[in-house]
Amino acid sequence: DAEVALVGRSNVGKSTLMRELTGHSFDTGGKPGVTRSPNHYDWAPEDFVITDLPGFGFMSGVDEDLREEIKTEIVHYLEEYADDILVAILVVDGKSVVDIIDRHSGPDEIPYDVEMFHFLRELDVPTVVAVNKMDKVDDEDERLDDLCDRLGLYPPWKQWQDTVAPISAKRGQLEPLTEAVRSHLHEQQRDDLF
Ligand code: GDP
Repeated sequence: DAEVALVGRSNVGKSTLMRELTGHSFDTGGKPGVTRSPNHYDWAPEDFVITDLPGFGFMSGVDEDLREEIKTEIVHYLEEYADDILVAILVVDGKSVVDIIDRHSGPDEIPYDVEMFHFLRELDVPTVVAVNKMDKVDDEDERLDDLCDRLGLYPPWKQWQDTVAPISAKRGQLEPLTEAVRSHLHEQQRDDLF
């Protein structure tokens, strides 16, 4: 089945976004690491399934080994189903993502979000970065340009509206994301025709 996969660190607002997209209620702010396996839901107005993958990265109360295990499971899932995944949505927290990336960039360290973004590209899965919590960000353009820079996308971010979608899941402001996802779906339908 046509599938859209949702990935992101814990606490970026993935459950809130899922609730907005699907109308189901999700356990927001619930115990991390509890929802381990991928969950599938219908994305109502569109004709595909949306898969919620477990949150990864730091979670208080979850030890290093379990964290690694969760990440490995996500990577395996994406590798196995890459051909069925029409679009991946990488959810990040717009308020903190650039700082977190910078803090974890070093000679032997690649930040999770950057790693995941490149990994999805290697799998040839079109990826939209949903930059959530933009209601908390004042310098929107600057923040999004910085994020593009860290992801290896040449700024300004406005050139990348198929890839970078500023949203506020909490306020139900998702238009840039649904637009970006649609553009990838249409692109693929067009490719299928030729
Ligand atoms: P998850 O761990 O990624 O599933 O994150 P949740 O959906 O549980 O959200 C984590 C926290 O971020 C909660 O307190 C949410 O209310 C908050 N949150 C989610 N989306 C937004 C948003 O767009 N703006 C703001 N300001 N807070 C948000």
